[in-house]
Amino acid sequence: MNFGYREVCLDHDTGERHPESPDRLRAVRRALKDHHGVDYVAADDVDLDLVRAVHDDDYVEEFRKYCADGGGNWDADTVAVEATWDAALASAGVAVWAAETAAPDVQHRETPFALGRPPGHHAVGDDAMGFCFINNAGVAAQAALEDDADRVAIFDWDVHHGNGTQDIFYDREDVFYASIHEDGLFPGTGAIQETGAADADGTNLNVKYQPGADTVDYLAAIDEVISPAIADYDPDLLLISAGFDAHERDPISRMQVSTEGYGVMTNRMRDLADDCEAGLGFVLEGGYGLDTLSDSIAMVHEVFDGYQPIPPEGDISDDARDILDTVADQGFGSK
Ligand SMILES: [Zn+2]
Repeated sequence: MNFGYREVCLDHDTGERHPESPDRLRAVRRALKDHHGVDYVAADDVDLDLVRAVHDDDYVEEFRKYCADGGGNWDADTVAVEATWDAALASAGVAVWAAETAAPDVQHRETPFALGRPPGHHAVGDDAMGFCFINNAGVAAQAALEDDADRVAIFDWDVHHGNGTQDIFYDREDVFYASIHEDGLFPGTGAIQETGAADADGTNLNVKYQPGADTVDYLAAIDEVISPAIADYDPDLLLISAGFDAHERDPISRMQVSTEGYGVMTNRMRDLADDCEAGLGFVLEGGYGLDTLSDSIAMVHEVFDGYQPIPPEGDISDDARDILDTVADQGFGSK
């Protein structure tokens, strides 16, 4: 794969013991050293006009000034230092690079993965939250739409609901947002019944699973509702908001997705993008176990390098079955 990366993203210093630390990117880079076919691309900073197309002007200026004044605790979880502004522009910039280089005719081995931080999917139109300041995937989708895409789909497999991405595009038909997330975790949003505002109904798909859902349950959600809905939507670009905190050994969730499971999900997304003749790009979100994060990203890379991940065995859980039936009742999938 081609990884978008900027050293300045390490300068976003969240302090000791914050789970979203620069060590995350260091661990990923260390792990990828041992893999064949890894290329790094230093993308440009995001164009501020793109940031202002998905965030309020006043918020963008407030964030800039907050960092220029030295930063601090924006809220209980969300920490900024002076360098956070530059890191955020770089992080959004690599996401835009991923959107712009993802194209249907790109070789699988050249699939782009934006390795930026701070992450983005909790940042709403007018506020930072949940470690996120600029909604990287949102800005990337906007860039594609302002280029030549008519429709962009974002599938968010981070264990948390991407409330910011949903918020930004809830009343827009040109972006389809789908998420699988764990019930009871931050920020508590992402009800199944939230399917898009009136003018964009059917462009927002939430699978809110109970704690303990595993790879089989995730694949069932993808196969029964998410992939069919995205195929119907027929996007020109498919972006993955790729957090790895649903991993079975991630310290902050109770989901049970395996490293191999991320490989199988990657395969599904590659096939979906091929079916839609859409470009495919990945944008890093969360993932807080340094080993599980780097192993999982290495797995995604290996799948694009030709590795065939082993599908899990077993049946969907009863909880997951009920939830997918409820999602299907909203008009998604084949049921
Ligand atoms: Zn997360």
